[in-house]
Amino acid sequence: MTLRNSDFDEIRVWDNENFVHPWEGMEHIGQNERTFTETADGIYVTTEAGKRLIDGPAGMWCVQIGYGNGEIADAMATQARDMAYFSPFNNANSVPARLAHEIAKRTPGDLNHVFFTTGGSTAVDTAIRFVHFRNNILGRPEKKIVISRQKAYHGSTFLAASVSGKERDKGWLDQAQGMSYFLPNVNPYIRPEGMSLQAFLDEKVADLENAILEIGADKVAAFIAEPILASGGVIVPPKGYHKRCLDICRKYDVLYISDEVVTGWGRLGHWFASEDVFDIVPDIITTAKGLTSGYVPMGACIISDALIDSVSGEKSQGATFSNGYTYSGHPVSAIAALKNIEIFEREGILEHVREVSPLFQERLTALGDFPIVGDTRGMGLVGCVECVVDSNSEDSLDLDKTVGARIDHHCQELGLILRPIINMCVFSPPLIINVSQINQMFDIMEKGIKLTTEDLA
Ligand code: PLP
Repeated sequence: MTLRNSDFDEIRVWDNENFVHPWEGMEHIGQNERTFTETADGIYVTTEAGKRLIDGPAGMWCVQIGYGNGEIADAMATQARDMAYFSPFNNANSVPARLAHEIAKRTPGDLNHVFFTTGGSTAVDTAIRFVHFRNNILGRPEKKIVISRQKAYHGSTFLAASVSGKERDKGWLDQAQGMSYFLPNVNPYIRPEGMSLQAFLDEKVADLENAILEIGADKVAAFIAEPILASGGVIVPPKGYHKRCLDICRKYDVLYISDEVVTGWGRLGHWFASEDVFDIVPDIITTAKGLTSGYVPMGACIISDALIDSVSGEKSQGATFSNGYTYSGHPVSAIAALKNIEIFEREGILEHVREVSPLFQERLTALGDFPIVGDTRGMGLVGCVECVVDSNSEDSLDLDKTVGARIDHHCQELGLILRPIINMCVFSPPLIINVSQINQMFDIMEKGIKLTTEDLA
């Protein structure tokens, strides 16, 4: 549908009066001046005013193959005509069955059982419910606590939010009481002056072991970790962290849930990052977003054969895993995911990411030369610029909290969207981004940071 500019005056009113957006700031609800993006192609989105912008965050870390892919759209349309829906409670369907098999072929180790969900939050919710369910069957109902980390984001359902560790999101909403425990920040950037990376790593691993000992291994069910803490500010833990944490988990019979909602599907140049990048085979992987390249909602909680075996057949005591969604394995989502995988393979997207990532990371690191930039960090095609307006202070409480939004504002004027988070800007462009577009993106960021520096002078 083609809309005229004037149509948006009315539509903006509907958006303000009727659409409650995620993370809605209640102080200004109903008075927002959000930009409408109405069409998109490749790595670009076009606003209501006809401005074409590079989509730095790929929507919300999800549009891996880029926008406007007719092949995926056609596959979804055909599927909707042939079989728009089937009940996963009562029947089976070939499309999600094929997809489960294709996913299992790409997961590490024996992670072969795929439970389809509606997105990342419900994948994490399912993982926690399964872990609890299993411990009930195994006769250890006290073993329920999930250890997470400060700055982690695992989603917005009650359970997923209860293991999310971003303090500023917790103030006004309830969490499941007594179910989670948060380890201190694993960001090497905040380590005390003079502390080596190795000492910091040792401390972070010890944090996990000490927490298990303090709580009691008989009460700790699982450790949940994003390979890279994405929404928390693209925090890359020190090398070897995940492997050593997995060893601790094994020592105390604690399950390891790797939340690959962001790091899966090529973001770090592999189907999944757990094994190929971080050298771990977890017990459960949760994923979503890039699974369908954001064309339609879908998530998955992938459980190891060993876990399933431990509570199946006679060992199940007749239990049913009473968890599921009307849209688990939705055929239109599943066909989009299958097509997405096909496109990834045909276009060599994983190889492309591995090829262009060094340039992306090199240009990212160079942004650290600006005096207002305190840290740059990232991996694959994901990055973060953290600003320190007062260069004598690394405490974000002392910073100009609008600096991320200012950089984003200038970049948008120049043709690039970023995702501002307080004093940071994060970005994770569509994986199809080419070399000249990467250069264009960072050229704009350099100008945006320069203009912001001038604003703050
Ligand atoms: N887990 C991680 C690591 C995420 O980054 C997100 C969302 O950004 C989620 C879970 C929640 O996913 P969703 O928004 O699809 O429910």
